[in-house]
Amino acid sequence: MIHRKDFQAGLIGRKLSHSFSPQIHAELADYNYTLFELEPDDVGTFLQNGSFDATNVTIPYKKTVMPYLAEISDEAQKIGSVNTITRTAKGLRGDNTDYFGFSYMLQKSGIAVKNKKCLVLGSGGASVTVCAVLEDMGAEVIVISRTGENNYENLDRHKDAAVIVNTTPVGMYPNNGESPVDLSLFPALSGVLDLIYNPARTQLLLDAQKLHIPCINGLTMLTAQAKKACELFLDTRIDDSEIDRITAKIAQDSENIILIGMPGCGKSTAGKLLAEQTGRQFADTDEVIVQKAGMSIPDIFAKYGEAHFRRLEHEAVCECAKKSGFVIATGGGVIKTESNFDALHQNGKVIWLQRDLQLLPSDGRPLSQQEGIVKLFAQRKPLYERFCDAVAQCEAEATLTAQNILSAFTAAFKEERQ
Ligand code: NAP
Repeated sequence: MIHRKDFQAGLIGRKLSHSFSPQIHAELADYNYTLFELEPDDVGTFLQNGSFDATNVTIPYKKTVMPYLAEISDEAQKIGSVNTITRTAKGLRGDNTDYFGFSYMLQKSGIAVKNKKCLVLGSGGASVTVCAVLEDMGAEVIVISRTGENNYENLDRHKDAAVIVNTTPVGMYPNNGESPVDLSLFPALSGVLDLIYNPARTQLLLDAQKLHIPCINGLTMLTAQAKKACELFLDTRIDDSEIDRITAKIAQDSENIILIGMPGCGKSTAGKLLAEQTGRQFADTDEVIVQKAGMSIPDIFAKYGEAHFRRLEHEAVCECAKKSGFVIATGGGVIKTESNFDALHQNGKVIWLQRDLQLLPSDGRPLSQQEGIVKLFAQRKPLYERFCDAVAQCEAEATLTAQNILSAFTAAFKEERQ
């Protein structure tokens, strides 16, 4: 951590409320890092009069800022966009640290691109940077653009693609669950890179994981470009290992801890306590359903049946699992709806909370009463096994249960990153 409390840094863009940059820069240095949400007409005035020592630039102003700069680095000039502005004796200087960011992400992914056919989805600002890096690494680059010669209607021309890089916003929060392409069209794929980092696993990356194709999200690029920007801000050097440390920290902090398990196993009690202890927010999908339906769960079952309840539950799961850094308790039967699998895993590790069947209550739980707990468990056990990333035991003391969940979550998170 570099100490420069007197230094005024920031980020200019249009909509910044979901930006991870303040958290990343807070790990790099203790300077002030302010978010400046500007309308297009205000960008020039801000650059001329704003009281900042240095600033980052994001969507949609990476080109807009260029005419206001006295000097632009060769890299930024070549890529045609600026994401870092510093003050020099000549005036404002523009750099592009996204080139370094994507190079670092590519290197970390271990995905080989030299002499390989790489499809880059999208032709916007990030696409230009990605293409420059891939070309410099010796890849054969094809840009897929909705309006280009190579587009989403003739993807079969490129069945032999080895690598896909998504530089479109398709699948990005709040439009979680959408994917720009069907990966099954590309049997020779050996890597998928998505520049999106919220959610942590876009539908594209979840699909890649199911096909056992190596893949990576855009958080490493975001952290790497921020490290390079911080070096330019303060005219200093920071070891690359900081990129990995900060990426892992932000990824872990923003990953949801999701609890599944039999009705009455203690998900809500332990989940609330864990949220309090870790400073996370708490959500309970059953509470969301009750609030939206305006009636209790037994009443929903009695009036509309289980299929209707499962639809409401899926909606509640999608709403809660889009969030970042929450503890989320789910209903016992959440694993019965297959589409909940991707929704829960897009931003979270799923922990199966296990409790002795003899200790499970059945009051207020329609299926536990109808089916009997032992029979219900026998039906659901394979589904809990399939959905979970790790297992935690429920203890007599909720504090111990919360500890077990946290240990299981941390171990599952570390295992994924190895
Ligand atoms: P941009 O300039 O708006 O370009 C995005 C491109 O995606 C567009 O030019 C368009 O290309 C395509 N596109 C847009 N909407 C689409 C849709 N509905 N369906 C299919 N294609 C669509 O944005 P950008 O600055 O390049 O950023 C793109 C994405 O990369 C964003 O999600 C951004 O958050 C992410 N990003 C991440 C990092 C990082 O550090 N991880 C850095 C930069 C950007 P066509 O018109 O040619 O189809």
